[in-house]
Amino acid sequence: MTKALIIGGGIGGLTLAMALRRAGIEPVVHEAYPQPDDYAGLFLNTASNGLDALRAIDVDLARGDAFPIPRMIMWSGTGKRLGEVANGTPLPDGTVSVCIRRGELQKVLRAEAHARGIAVEYGKRLDTYHDTPTGVAARFTDGTEATGDLLIGADGIHSRTRRLLDPQAPLPRFTGLLSVGGYSRDAALTPTTDTQHFVFGKRAFFGYLVREAGEIYWFANLHRPHEPSQQELAAVTPEQWRQHLIDLFADDTPVIRHILGNLTGEVGAYPVHDIPTSPVWHRGPVALIGDAVHATSPSAGQGASMAIEDAIVLAKCLRDAPDVTTAYTTYEQLRRPRVEKVVAYSKTLSNSKTAGPVARVFRDLMMPVALKLFANPKSHAWMYDHHIEWNHHQEAA
Ligand SMILES: Cc1cc2nc3c(=O)[nH]c(=O)nc-3n(C[C@H](O)[C@H](O)[C@H](O)COP(=O)(O)OP(=O)(O)OC[C@H]3O[C@@H](n4cnc5c(N)ncnc54)[C@H](O)[C@@H]3O)c2cc1C
Repeated sequence: MTKALIIGGGIGGLTLAMALRRAGIEPVVHEAYPQPDDYAGLFLNTASNGLDALRAIDVDLARGDAFPIPRMIMWSGTGKRLGEVANGTPLPDGTVSVCIRRGELQKVLRAEAHARGIAVEYGKRLDTYHDTPTGVAARFTDGTEATGDLLIGADGIHSRTRRLLDPQAPLPRFTGLLSVGGYSRDAALTPTTDTQHFVFGKRAFFGYLVREAGEIYWFANLHRPHEPSQQELAAVTPEQWRQHLIDLFADDTPVIRHILGNLTGEVGAYPVHDIPTSPVWHRGPVALIGDAVHATSPSAGQGASMAIEDAIVLAKCLRDAPDVTTAYTTYEQLRRPRVEKVVAYSKTLSNSKTAGPVARVFRDLMMPVALKLFANPKSHAWMYDHHIEWNHHQEAA
């Protein structure tokens, strides 16, 4: 049986492992972290197209802690309602896009993979690999090695696999945004059932939703001309973030300062990058999926869904193509136009969050018109209505 070494046990890597198993290929996942961390990261929107793709391998994410968010309401900082848009397209059974804690999403995928007997090895950070006469050998930073017929890099935006596959590959691009977020609690705030709110503030962008019992998920996007280093970010305390954010949103709707006044736990800060295009997606027995090959900024809420879709499509290609080269070529041809379009679209959304004073006035005037267009379900059908039929034979592109 063909054996695939998967590098990275994140969203794409775990999905790929389950899809490959279903395609008759034996996966082994190699994850750099020493053990699973159910509390890493904050929360993320998983769009209806990503939920639909997961169903191809019988994983249902819209259960458990996932919180349905079918709509988004946009506000100006002054409290003017700019408009409302659908967050994805409901699936035939009515399932809608969800917001889920990243750790919870990882936990669901890991539990599913475990239940299917898939091996996930922790503490295995890829250092290097080389082709062998029969496939590929990976070496990890702990000095161990693994061999397989295929190696697939699902190791995220700073992918080591990408660097080894194509030393000339472009570095991730800093988008000029810093995403800061966390949790807050206020039993007096009414739950924003089904809705996530977004505020285009005077100096920064704010998003929030209120769950039952007043638990609030919030994030802010701040403009930064230069990328802050990890050391600089690590030196900022939650209290310093709180004060900085309260200052930034001082002229905007008071609900933001109210939320920031009741923080619970840590504040996470993440420089936002993307990768508009990667020249090399595969070579020989090695291929890339997810953020490793086409990271998108979070504004479109599609990064996780793109990694999931990649995983399902790649597994289908490997199942149905006569050889690995045809499978990888078909996979790239099927996926590249779609993911590059999503990355570009998301970057446009990110740019609208950092408007200067003049652009801001223009944006607040034009946005209701733009949102009316966006509210037309057909305008974003290309992104959300993307069904992958697992049982259909995948023809070479
Ligand atoms: C602030 C922020 C908010 C976001 N919000 C959203 C959102 O709302 N909706 C959405 O869809 N997307 C969102 N995204 C994007 C989303 O997180 C990514 O697109 C998604 O995680 C990509 O999945 P992946 O499996 O490709 O990579 P990852 O999930 O990053 O997984 C990569 C895995 O590889 C491991 N790894 C790394 N290097 C190595 C190595 N050398 N060897 C072995 N393992 C390695 C890592 O530890 C990790 O477990 C957001 C991103 C950020 C930064």
